[in-house]
Amino acid sequence: MLKISELNLDDDWILSHRGKKNSVDYNRPYACFVEKERTARGTLEDVATVFLTNKECPFHCLMCDLWKNTTDHKVPRGAIPSQIRWALQKLSPVKHIKLYNSGNFFDEQAIPKEDYEAIASILTGFNTVVIESHPKLIGKKCLLFNDMLNAELQVSIGLETVHPDVLSLLNKQMSLIDFEKSIKILSKHGIKSRAFILLKPPFLNEDEGVSWAKRSIVYAFETGVECCVVIPTRSGNGAMDWLHANQYFSPPNIYSLEDVLEYGIQLNRGRVFADLWDLEIFSDCDKCLINRKQRLHDMNLQQETKEEVRCSCTSSLNY
Ligand code: SF4
Ligand SMILES: [Zn+2]
Repeated sequence: MLKISELNLDDDWILSHRGKKNSVDYNRPYACFVEKERTARGTLEDVATVFLTNKECPFHCLMCDLWKNTTDHKVPRGAIPSQIRWALQKLSPVKHIKLYNSGNFFDEQAIPKEDYEAIASILTGFNTVVIESHPKLIGKKCLLFNDMLNAELQVSIGLETVHPDVLSLLNKQMSLIDFEKSIKILSKHGIKSRAFILLKPPFLNEDEGVSWAKRSIVYAFETGVECCVVIPTRSGNGAMDWLHANQYFSPPNIYSLEDVLEYGIQLNRGRVFADLWDLEIFSDCDKCLINRKQRLHDMNLQQETKEEVRCSCTSSLNY
């Protein structure tokens, strides 16, 4: 087994481990749905999430699998507004929308700047618009889009982890200084931010994964972030599967997700959500999975801790 310092996890290595992309159509978002979310004001409201189809992100983060549903080329002007219109016709009416584009909204190769006006116009009448961006792309274009919008803009940013060595191994091309600068720009202009935080990224054991996720939440709130989303790290993009097979990574377990969510909510510094997608892969016990899912779901919506799930699978553990 190579030492971590001997691994060369650069763009070429990450790209060489990829499988094929899915077939996508730039006339359609590749997914969209409406779900309940606790708002910053404490109400429970319907929020639409639209996964826009556009050109792949120029960064190649070690753990990222978002490239799977992207195009190789820039989509034509008008395609993104038309995807949003299509989604809004399909979905029930909502006042809040997330436009997630598998990359960075302010990457002009992904979302053409000439489309900002049309996008802002479609979103007239919305209360909240959430987009995502790498910190290095937050600047003039973000402020321009914010000025065009007649809604509150929120920007989601992948903080991933504040573990300095792991953050640099993720090939994110981002330092904590970059993160802090971007939050400062957003805050100065009244734009809210949410941070994506990885639970147990590669190279950490279970306890370290939990501890660094908690530290990352505290750091995000201290930096000025309004909302944190904890994402259990998973394989599936080729590179992570190699790391898993070679014992540099194993997925966190669902108890750790419960622990971190509980901790984050108890801080009472802002909203903290757990990403609940594909939770089955983080549990070895069929007996309590449904109850644990429900507990996480309730904690997400109510932003308060809930009674622990009792099950024989944890009777020997010290949780
Ligand atoms: S910046 Fe975001 S979308 Fe781009 S590769 Fe990294 S995690 Fe994926
Ligand atoms: Zn169990």
